[in-house]
Amino acid sequence: MDSVHALDSDYVRDQLVPRTTDVNQKRTRPDGAWVLYWMQSTQRIEENWALRAAIRAADKVGKPLVIHQGLDPTYPHASDRHHHHILHAARDTARDADARGFAYQFVLRRRRDDDRRVLDRLAADAYCVFTDRFPTAGVDARTWRLGERVDCRVLAVDSSCIVPSGLLPKAEWAARTIRPKLAKLRDVSLERVEERGPRRALTRDEQQRLDDARRVDALPFRAWAERDADAVNRAIAQHIAECEIDHRVAPVTSFVPGATAAAARLDEFVHARLASYTTRRNEAADDWTSHLSPDLHYGHIAAAAVVRAALASDAPRADVDAFVDQVLTWRELSYNWCLRTPRFDALSALPDWIQRTMAAHAADPREETYTLEALDQAETDDALWNAAQRQLVQQGVIHNYARMLWGKQVIRWAPTYEDARAWLFHLNDRYALDGRDPNSVGGIMWCLGLWDRSWGNKPIWGGLRPMLTSRAKLKFDVGRYVRQWSGRGLR
Ligand SMILES: Cc1cc2nc3c(=O)[nH]c(=O)nc-3n(C[C@H](O)[C@H](O)[C@H](O)COP(=O)(O)OP(=O)(O)OC[C@H]3O[C@@H](n4cnc5c(N)ncnc54)[C@H](O)[C@@H]3O)c2cc1C
Repeated sequence: MDSVHALDSDYVRDQLVPRTTDVNQKRTRPDGAWVLYWMQSTQRIEENWALRAAIRAADKVGKPLVIHQGLDPTYPHASDRHHHHILHAARDTARDADARGFAYQFVLRRRRDDDRRVLDRLAADAYCVFTDRFPTAGVDARTWRLGERVDCRVLAVDSSCIVPSGLLPKAEWAARTIRPKLAKLRDVSLERVEERGPRRALTRDEQQRLDDARRVDALPFRAWAERDADAVNRAIAQHIAECEIDHRVAPVTSFVPGATAAAARLDEFVHARLASYTTRRNEAADDWTSHLSPDLHYGHIAAAAVVRAALASDAPRADVDAFVDQVLTWRELSYNWCLRTPRFDALSALPDWIQRTMAAHAADPREETYTLEALDQAETDDALWNAAQRQLVQQGVIHNYARMLWGKQVIRWAPTYEDARAWLFHLNDRYALDGRDPNSVGGIMWCLGLWDRSWGNKPIWGGLRPMLTSRAKLKFDVGRYVRQWSGRGLR
């Protein structure tokens, strides 16, 4: 199904085709009790293409729909930070599902030796399984493993991209090659499709069958909706404390997760900051960008909704275009790279000119070197780099311009290019709320030359674009940014 489809009047409805991948080509099970939507990376009810596909299938065969979300202690970099984000956001998902009459359940597996077969039992009773297509954070890998294990069809649907990813079947080589293709398909892809709930609810018997298959309790979101915020916060904190995850990476309580907060963030950005996005977005201390990357990463907001809001605003065209270019071109370039490139996060995936320049400069002496531990603790001699690392550790993001510098310096300091690559992924994905994303891959691989051209031939850098923190003061107020993240009381 990953092929290009001609545009016609039914294109919007048919966006489901180029968004859908048949994971295991197995048969549907006519005696299945329900259609299952396994919610992984698109953690929302609105504008969710996988959910939409599941509703259609359920209606077509007259079966009820079950939405299952699970959280395991085994995902990459599982920590209090990510668990807090996911669990709090799920309150919005449960509320929105309830409002639309969907059967939604969330199962938290606290310890590695807790029951790990819940999903398999739900799938064993399913007509077919829909899930989200998402190349990073282990999502696609988990999906394909499920596809092998279960005895019914598993379909993965892309709800992350604005332009259905199946319409771009090859790896694009640069922003300039993907930009015109996306631009051509943008407006039709942004059209809203009317939403509706499934026609058929679970009967009492089917609900019992579902409870029997699940065997463990789902989280009590309905009961929590009646309780005061402090009590719910305490209950969620207690659940997290019981999980076998990394408790050293703390939640970012200043960033409210979930669909409601994401919509408010978008609204605030569009009205307060979009109008001067072009001139102020690189001023790291002002933090003038949208702050939507964690929302987009977890699927708490649809990228299409973000772009529609920007296009509908009164902000100057240049600001709107610059912002839309980030959300559409750069973000979907990263998705395209990850979907279409085997081993997309390995040095070996980078173009030949980068392989050659790295081979030629592999033995160049690194004048300053730091260990991964020193980088993690922000203990370098570079005040700007330390400030960026502290922002990452405390806030769970780094301002984009500082993030480019942050990534580039590690190339100078790590003993090898492979160490630089591995350390950047480790630091980014461990702490960033938007980490483990196709954009994490795009950003880090860009530092290592991806989508760029050769910039000459300098020691260590070879042909890679050199970026030095010492020159950053030409771009933004470094002193103010460093003072903001000076480290007092941060750890
Ligand atoms: C080393 C490095 C690592 C990065 N790691 C991540 C990551 O883990 N997750 C992540 O989402 N982004 C990552 N980026 C890209 C970029 O830094 C962030 O997307 C951006 O800073 C998020 O802030 P914002 O939402 O306020 O951005 P805005 O400027 O408001 O942009 C809006 C949206 O556009 C997209 N976008 C913006 N800049 C880029 C970009 N350069 N590439 C791709 N998409 C972009 C993002 O989805 C972003 O949320 C990384 C960049 C570098 C150089």
